[in-house]
Amino acid sequence: MNLVIMGPPGAGKGTQADFIKAAYKIPHISTGDMFREAVKNATELGLEAKGYMEAGKLVPDEVTIGIIKERLGQDDCQEGFMLDGFPRTTPQAEALDQVLAGMGRKIEVVLNIFVPREVLLERILNRVTCNNCKTIYNLRFLDDHETCAKCGGELGYRSDDRGEIAKTRLEVYLEQTMPLLQYYQERQVLNSVDGNREAPEVFEEIREILEKI
Ligand code: AMP
Repeated sequence: MNLVIMGPPGAGKGTQADFIKAAYKIPHISTGDMFREAVKNATELGLEAKGYMEAGKLVPDEVTIGIIKERLGQDDCQEGFMLDGFPRTTPQAEALDQVLAGMGRKIEVVLNIFVPREVLLERILNRVTCNNCKTIYNLRFLDDHETCAKCGGELGYRSDDRGEIAKTRLEVYLEQTMPLLQYYQERQVLNSVDGNREAPEVFEEIREILEKI
C-alpha cells in the first residue's frame, strides 16, 4: 500500500500514522521527523533545514525531494509506505509521481484529515511529545504534564508549536499545501476524513477506507 497522509498541523496525522503503522506494518516516513532528527544531530541537512523550520516555513523543495527519493529507495519501502508531511507543494507531488513511476509504482490512496482552524490552534499549542518514544499528547488530557505514560520519558514542546510560528505554519499549509487536494482529487485517490473526533474513531474511518484498496 502506497499511502499519503495529509492535513494541516494539528490535524492528528502523527497520531493516525501510529495507528496505521501498527495495523498495516508499513514504514512511516515523516519528513518533519527526519528534519528534526537531522537538526538534533547537527548534520549538514539539519543545518540547512533549521532556519526554515524555526520560522515555520517550508524547507526548499530540492532538499526535501532529495531525502524522500533516497528514503523510498530503501528496502523496507518495497512493499509499501506511508508518507506523512510530504508532499507539501505541487512540485513535490510531481516529483514524487515521477520517482514512483520510475519504480513502476504510484500513490494508491491519499487521506486528508480535516479539522476546524480554532481546534487546530488549540491542539498545536497544547501538544507535547515524548522525547523518547515520540508519543504525542494533548496537555488538556494529561494529569502529569512532564512524564510519558507509555515509557516514562520526558515530555517536551516542539519549538515550532509556539504562538506566531504555529500560525505561520497554518498559513503556509493553506497557501502551499491545500492546492494539492485538487491534484489528488483529479487523480481519484483523495479520501477526506473528519479529524475532529477522538483518535480511535478517526482511525476506524481510515481503516474502512484502507480495507477497500
Ligand atoms: P512537520 O513535523 O511535518 O509539521 O514538519 C515540521 C517542519 O519541517 C515544517 O514546518 C517544515 O519546516 C519542515 N518540513 C517537513 N516536511 C516538509 C516538506 N515536505 N517540505 C518542506 N518542508 C518540510
